[in-house]
Amino acid sequence: REMETPQFLGHPKGLFYLFFAELWERFSFYGMRALLMVYMTEEVYRSLVDRDTIAATIYAAYGALVYATPVLGGMLADRLLGYRRAIMLGGVLMALGHFVLAIDDQIAFFLALALIIVGNGLFKPNISSFVGSLYEQGDPRRDSGFTIFYMGINIGAFVAPLLCGWLGFSYGWHYGFGAAGIGMLAGVIVFYSGIKGGIFGVHGHAPNEDQLEVKISGLKIKNWVPLIAFALVPFIALIMYYGELYLPIVGKVNYEGQVVEYAFYLILIVILGVIVRTMTSASKVERQQLLVIVLLTMFMTMFWGGYELSGSTLTLFALRNVEMIGINASQANSITGLYIIMMAVLFSWIWVKLSAVKANPYTPFKFAFGLLLLGAGFAVFAWSGSFANDAGKVPMLFLMLGYLMFSTGELFMSPVGLSKVTELSPKKVVGFMMGVWFLSSAFAFRIVGAVGKLLAVGGSADEINAQASLAVYTEGFESIAFVVLSCAALAFVLAPLMKK
Ligand code: GLN
Repeated sequence: REMETPQFLGHPKGLFYLFFAELWERFSFYGMRALLMVYMTEEVYRSLVDRDTIAATIYAAYGALVYATPVLGGMLADRLLGYRRAIMLGGVLMALGHFVLAIDDQIAFFLALALIIVGNGLFKPNISSFVGSLYEQGDPRRDSGFTIFYMGINIGAFVAPLLCGWLGFSYGWHYGFGAAGIGMLAGVIVFYSGIKGGIFGVHGHAPNEDQLEVKISGLKIKNWVPLIAFALVPFIALIMYYGELYLPIVGKVNYEGQVVEYAFYLILIVILGVIVRTMTSASKVERQQLLVIVLLTMFMTMFWGGYELSGSTLTLFALRNVEMIGINASQANSITGLYIIMMAVLFSWIWVKLSAVKANPYTPFKFAFGLLLLGAGFAVFAWSGSFANDAGKVPMLFLMLGYLMFSTGELFMSPVGLSKVTELSPKKVVGFMMGVWFLSSAFAFRIVGAVGKLLAVGGSADEINAQASLAVYTEGFESIAFVVLSCAALAFVLAPLMKK
């Protein structure tokens, strides 16, 4: 059974299968995300005066749930399924979700989001943990493995908005969503071929295969899992539907999205309980390592809380107030992906070189830098307002420049964190801790929702005025820059303590 894992280009061969599977999964994820806000504000809710508020709320609810489920998906893989089964099931659910999104129907819309939410929970944390499991403890290749993997993520995130954004704007939204589904299907096929080809060696199996064969009420546990996953879908769709949609149906104003809010806090309490329990049963070193992960997760939350506005408010900003050249507002979502592809290898090379002279900054310092750069990015967006033309549009250069700061900040944090989580977590709970890591994004979407609502521009699609939206955006970005830069300052102060 202890067969050697095949190698390729100095890394386990499995890395490259996971690379392509994740590339396609992220292709579908970011292709869809590039269209989502524009689709809601320009199509589904275009005639409503508060379409921005509704769309921002749904975007945030979707984002919060899509990044909250990984904690459950990770736990399930640790205890029962193993990474392979979890990833396959998640991939199939997500592919279905994207295809359902191609159907032009309100109920289909929420069912589709729910399918992606459940699917992502099973797929996203476990494919990252799977990458980590290919490397032994202390293997110096782990970080560069994650850099390669992060490139895959961003190749998907770069190409998909270009393609889906083009299809969406030129041929119709549902073609764009359909293309995303085909991408996810490609991801599932790549992953499955890796399994069939024995590429992953001994890794990614269920912790106890026999346990999966046990029957409950005449059905094997391994068959119960997909059944329950599918059963969750209409439930989550209902939460989103009633939580987010009774405004247009009932006509109530001042809607706050309470249902998702409560559902979210309930999940949160359960998760905190599990963290506390894990902490009490862990050794002292493990406990301190877990604590560092939780703190890093909090910095990460602040970061994503600003960054993820790229899919919502910043996409609308690009649509309404940026003089776009060559690409449309949805396609602008590919800019950050391009930067990451260009810079990821350079960054990991810099970390290696700095390590060699013992000058590699400690992770908490890197995180503080990341926040600093994000704040600077928002400052650039705010500043762009001074260069607006008579039509209320600012030069695209500012969008490019602000996003450059976002992406540079991201490289100080996100890939570093992914790698650290797989290295620092006790082996039995890697999947779960990866879920906790993504929880930073789930929390972040509560910020994204609140900010998105604050920066909502009133008026239906036919009423909107570019000068009015420009004022809302630039003032908003200025405040965000101020808050994020303050957080960065705090992070610099806390970093030395965390290093200890
Ligand atoms: N952009 C990265 C990805 O898609 C990180 C996302 C996140 O952690 N919120 O994987």
